[in-house]
Amino acid sequence: ISFENYQLSDEIKRALSVLKYENPTEVQNKVIPLALEDHDLVVKSQTGSGKTASFGIPICEMVKWEEKKPQALILTPTRELAAQVREDITNIGRFKRIKAMAVYGKEPFAKQKEELKQKTHVVVGTPGRVMDHIERGTLVLDEIKYLVIDETDEMLNMGFIDEVEAIMEELPTNRVTMVFSATLPKDVEGLCHKYMKDPVNIEI
Ligand code: AMP
Repeated sequence: ISFENYQLSDEIKRALSVLKYENPTEVQNKVIPLALEDHDLVVKSQTGSGKTASFGIPICEMVKWEEKKPQALILTPTRELAAQVREDITNIGRFKRIKAMAVYGKEPFAKQKEELKQKTHVVVGTPGRVMDHIERGTLVLDEIKYLVIDETDEMLNMGFIDEVEAIMEELPTNRVTMVFSATLPKDVEGLCHKYMKDPVNIEI
């Protein structure tokens, strides 16, 4: 299997070749075709499996460059992961000029607020700071079509369940949701059951 098997634009394929991603990893091979067809997905996989690109590639493919409001929201448990995911998305979307922004605590709110006024296609952030921006009206969610919750078990272990649920309540219901988690404990399953539409389960 090669990336040529998927319905990807030349801009994305060119970026993958610059990144030297020749063949999809197992998680990418399972996730990318389904995500491109707008399926909700629950993916049990570890870090190091290539999971970031498994959601980053379809999101960069499907995001519309012309749209001014954010179209994808990616929640991560930590700032470090948010920064890493933002970088990966920027690299995958470079030839499509996809703008990804990271929002997390410990960085001035005002600076993020100014950046959010510019065109931003993809917002990556930790639940607490994302919720702050929603409450203060600096992050507009009405064009969000893709939600990814990364390292979901970790996020819930850190006590973010209320923020995650509050954010999900604010999102348009007509969206694609992808949940990534190394383990699927009851609270993660509960979240999926409550907020997803017939998700396909993928186990690596
Ligand atoms: P992740 O599991 O998303 O943290 O990715 C682990 C590492 O694999 C990262 O350094 C990626 O840049 C790299 N990677 C992801 N997908 C591919 C691929 N298809 N081919 C080669 N390397 C990849």
